Amino acid sequence: MTPLEEVKKLIAIPSVTGEEEEIARYLESRFQQLGCKTRLYEAAKNRYNIYAEYPGRDKSRPGVLFHGHMDTVPPYGMPNPYSPDVNNGRVWGRGSVDQKAGIAAVISAFEDYLSSSRTPEKSIAFIGVIDEESEHRGSMAMKEMGIDADFGIVTEPTDLKFGIGCKGTAPVLLSVKGRAAHGCRPWLGVNAVVAGIKLAEKIMSEELPIYTIEGIGDVQGSYNLGKIEGGNAYNIVADRCAIWFDRRLTPGETQAGVVEDIRKAADTMGFSDELKIDIEIARPDWNWPPIKERGLLPAITDMSRPEVSGLKKLCDEVLGFESRVYFTDGYNEMDFLINDLGINTIQFGPGDSARCHTDDEYLDIEQLQKCTDVYKKIISFFCE
Ligand SMILES: [Zn+2]
Repeated sequence: MTPLEEVKKLIAIPSVTGEEEEIARYLESRFQQLGCKTRLYEAAKNRYNIYAEYPGRDKSRPGVLFHGHMDTVPPYGMPNPYSPDVNNGRVWGRGSVDQKAGIAAVISAFEDYLSSSRTPEKSIAFIGVIDEESEHRGSMAMKEMGIDADFGIVTEPTDLKFGIGCKGTAPVLLSVKGRAAHGCRPWLGVNAVVAGIKLAEKIMSEELPIYTIEGIGDVQGSYNLGKIEGGNAYNIVADRCAIWFDRRLTPGETQAGVVEDIRKAADTMGFSDELKIDIEIARPDWNWPPIKERGLLPAITDMSRPEVSGLKKLCDEVLGFESRVYFTDGYNEMDFLINDLGINTIQFGPGDSARCHTDDEYLDIEQLQKCTDVYKKIISFFCE
């Protein structure tokens, strides 16, 4: 099948987070058709990661591992989310960019490479994971699955740019409890909203560490105060306040460090002893303790390794232009490959990530083709 046919097939299989079984089983059979050994792994109840490997002569770890998430966000208001519509060099559909195109490019690259009936020196591997859009249970399970490789490629959309790292993200909930009193005698109460705002201002005014990346420049973490709730009525001293932050982290920063910094800031505020402040990692869709505990960490490719510059050169040759090297303010699952598995990894995939999660999600077909060509070369580069 062509890469376009592959992606249309994948779009037509709905796979909203939590409902990845059908697409996992489809990928299992598709990779088997290509001659790969496959394994389904139950990463959450009735939800399966799919691992596929084409064995090389060398039976140690694979030369390259392509990683893609199978789940998508819901269709929301998207018309015809699962009937891929091709028009003007684009294909529309839920998951077209995020990120069935990346998976389709992998399948096509495998098919093309394996049709030559060469036996590679090193094995070629793919992992499709569940739950990327929520609790990351699929990528969390890679460690238990014993996943390993010389190098990793995260196939999320990069607009064919060369992603060498991502920020981490800590969803922080600050809960403040004070004491209510009548609004005519505020001195008898302890106002939780006022304290919450003061503490928020304090932590947001603190200078966050700067991380310098050679060839890119300085990057810095950030705080976004996304939501604030509190109080009961205008004439009652507010006895509670909840503030949600999206704290982004640069390499070297940790989730525990973020919580610790907020705790320290709170201790310097001179608040009344009656005020109770809780700081926790909380996201409305996170109910699974292991992900709260681990968090979503920053990650960066080890650029000192010679294969990285070789890989960049190869990408540029295939693309016919110099692909930009970048570090994203966003987050992606290269975190798990780099930080949990110790696999040096880049992110490179087809499509414009600005289209992700929108009602106007479409993929540029030319990028899909070019990315497939790059993946084919990547297979030869790492596995021959
Ligand atoms: Zn994605």
